[in-house]
Amino acid sequence: MAFRCPQCKTRDTLQIELSLDLPPSRQSEEASLQVIACRACGFRSLAVYDVGRGDCPESESWKHIGYWVSPDAVESVSAAIRSCPEPRNPHCTCAAHTSLTKKDLQGSWRGLLELERGHTFAMRMFLG
Ligand SMILES: [Zn+2]
Ligand SMILES: [Zn+2]
Repeated sequence: MAFRCPQCKTRDTLQIELSLDLPPSRQSEEASLQVIACRACGFRSLAVYDVGRGDCPESESWKHIGYWVSPDAVESVSAAIRSCPEPRNPHCTCAAHTSLTKKDLQGSWRGLLELERGHTFAMRMFLG
């Protein structure tokens, strides 16, 4: 699975390097936080894949959004995901999961709200 890189615009070079499954929130049924990296230009960033709580099961309510963040932010999230013993378990209670899934009063993840203030780009996949 590869995506188009928003920096060098090359197809099929942006790959998901690390992924951490997150517990459901008020807005999402399932979600994961990902570290993405481009094989061509070395661009690294974060992405969030999120399946919304739609009333209609046929609705395409998933979102896959990339975030332009600082290299420091990418490094700290990568280190956190690497430290998790069970990245595919959304109910894992390790330190990384605990800090990355802190929720605000509205039930949204605090870490993600911080990301949303930055610039975003759509994660586009090219099949075939
Ligand atoms: Zn690139
Ligand atoms: Zn964990």
